[in-house]
Amino acid sequence: MAEVDVPEPFSIEALCENVARRRGRPIELRAFYESDPTMPCGLWLQMPERDVIYYEGAVSLPLRENIIAHELGHILADHPCDQQELDVYRARLMPTLALNPSLLTRVLGRVSYTTAREQEAEMFAWLLLGSVRSPDAAEARGDASAQGRAAALLGPSS
Ligand SMILES: [Zn+2]
Repeated sequence: MAEVDVPEPFSIEALCENVARRRGRPIELRAFYESDPTMPCGLWLQMPERDVIYYEGAVSLPLRENIIAHELGHILADHPCDQQELDVYRARLMPTLALNPSLLTRVLGRVSYTTAREQEAEMFAWLLLGSVRSPDAAEARGDASAQGRAAALLGPSS
């Protein structure tokens, strides 16, 4: 797994800043609100001077963190996209996101987990968030809100 500076206390925004600093390329986080269910809930757009992570805005905080961490996994693993993917997304996204299609050099959408690439990104998100959400990690820094979040993920105690 790629090395990341996990911020203390943890926030997904601070994590993105750490990754951006290490790579020397800014990472922008942008929410989008898309009712089309065939659209991915997260996207990584590689632009000339920066990377942009789009995430579905109408989701809970844990899911938002998961979407963003997944896209960060793609960035850190330097996953390629194929030309067909790029063409499809250029056509679909540009009207929605108001970006210049020619500036887009790579795009990955969070849609299915059938490819090794998607599984790798999802595993990165799972491991990363699992480590910051575990009750031990939360307790160690006395973070009540993280503890509550970890507890919520584990479900009601029986
Ligand atoms: Zn993905």
